[in-house]
Amino acid sequence: MANNNTLEPGIDFEFTEEMNLLKKTVRQFAETEVKPFVMKYDEAQEFPTETVKKMGELGFLGAAIPTELGGAGLTAIESAIIMEEISRVDPSVALIIAGHSGLCLQHIAMFGNEDQKRRYVPDLATGAKIGSWCLTEPGAGSDASGMASTAVLDGDAYVLNGTKTFITNGTHASTYVVMAKTDLTKGNRGISALIVERDMKGVSVGKKENKMGMRASDTATMMFDGVQVPKTKLLGNEGEGYKQALGVLDSGRVGIAALCVGLAQGAFEAALKYSKERRAFGKFISEFQGIQFKLADMATDIEAARLLTYRAAVAKTKGENINLIASEAKLYASEIAQRVTTEAIQIHGGYGFIKDFPVEKFYRDVKILTIGEGTSEVQKMVIAKNLVRS
Ligand SMILES: Cc1cc2nc3c(=O)[nH]c(=O)nc-3n(C[C@H](O)[C@H](O)[C@H](O)COP(=O)(O)OP(=O)(O)OC[C@H]3O[C@@H](n4cnc5c(N)ncnc54)[C@H](O)[C@@H]3O)c2cc1C
Repeated sequence: MANNNTLEPGIDFEFTEEMNLLKKTVRQFAETEVKPFVMKYDEAQEFPTETVKKMGELGFLGAAIPTELGGAGLTAIESAIIMEEISRVDPSVALIIAGHSGLCLQHIAMFGNEDQKRRYVPDLATGAKIGSWCLTEPGAGSDASGMASTAVLDGDAYVLNGTKTFITNGTHASTYVVMAKTDLTKGNRGISALIVERDMKGVSVGKKENKMGMRASDTATMMFDGVQVPKTKLLGNEGEGYKQALGVLDSGRVGIAALCVGLAQGAFEAALKYSKERRAFGKFISEFQGIQFKLADMATDIEAARLLTYRAAVAKTKGENINLIASEAKLYASEIAQRVTTEAIQIHGGYGFIKDFPVEKFYRDVKILTIGEGTSEVQKMVIAKNLVRS
């Protein structure tokens, strides 16, 4: 006969009381502090400085950072809750968190030495300073190892030269983590990561991109022209930058997956509400099976993506290798978010194409999510590599 131990499934899908409270708190913040300004920032393509400041004060920017370094000391699961709830209202504000916390801050927290952490992490965790993460170049995106940026050691400083493109928060940041080649003969193993400050001579911001979506999130070109970066700003050892970047991306992809789930949830809720208000052929359109089946598929896709995302967040919290699960979660969540937003527009009919309805913005915002932090094709390469080598 089975005893209690064998009956114990070992999986608990329930949020703790603290997690439920956090979800409620973030949702309230998003509804009151973010929602009223969504279209204002989108149309003006303006960085929401006040909102970001408030998120810093509430601990949303340093969620997973230990309290002794100025963070909120939360788990990856709680960080995912924050991303999901902010993105449900405005994905572009969540993208600001992804670039700042998920990439720049996380890189320094994961690979910085004690001195670097003490110097940079508290200001980033509280939002006193904004961070950017600079990997992509005009000629090297998916294949980051093809980068042309160089950092040549000269005495006590690296001389950094190069151009980074599509950098989230680029214009507003004062702390940058920049990947560059310190040894041109070693391929990936010749790439190093440096902390660069905005006021170092030779750092400048280039073109601010005019984007289809995520318009409140700033995306800019960063130029580094003979920047003298003190040797003490090297993260880890020379040649470890590429490996570090892949680790940071694994971690960041859990956040992007949560962002996708929140975005899809926002679009779904708007479509469900509209279907109960819009009448056609003498009925609410929610009474038609053709619409109900769309809603059923959307809800099922979102729940599946949410479970995969939280499974990845649990693995991250436990310190497991998340290379496979993070790519699976990011791939699946971004692809379903795209499907859900398309159907949300369809349910709205012509009104879905009009900016007065929130689904129009969700539809524009979603596209970058199958591209940024690794395209869907790159995620499949990562997933397949894990499958084939096991
Ligand atoms: C809004 C926005 C914000 C961003 N934020 C940042 C940031 O903060 N920091 C940063 O460093 N970068 C950032 N990026 C860059 C982003 O990560 C890259 O755009 C992305 O990695 C893809 O690189 P790419 O644009 O050069 O496309 P490419 O690498 O040129 O890819 C073009 C196409 O080829 C496909 N492809 C490439 N290689 C293969 C292959 N081996 N097999 C099959 N298909 C392949 C790709 O999947 C894609 O479909 C951002 C981009 C945008 C648009």
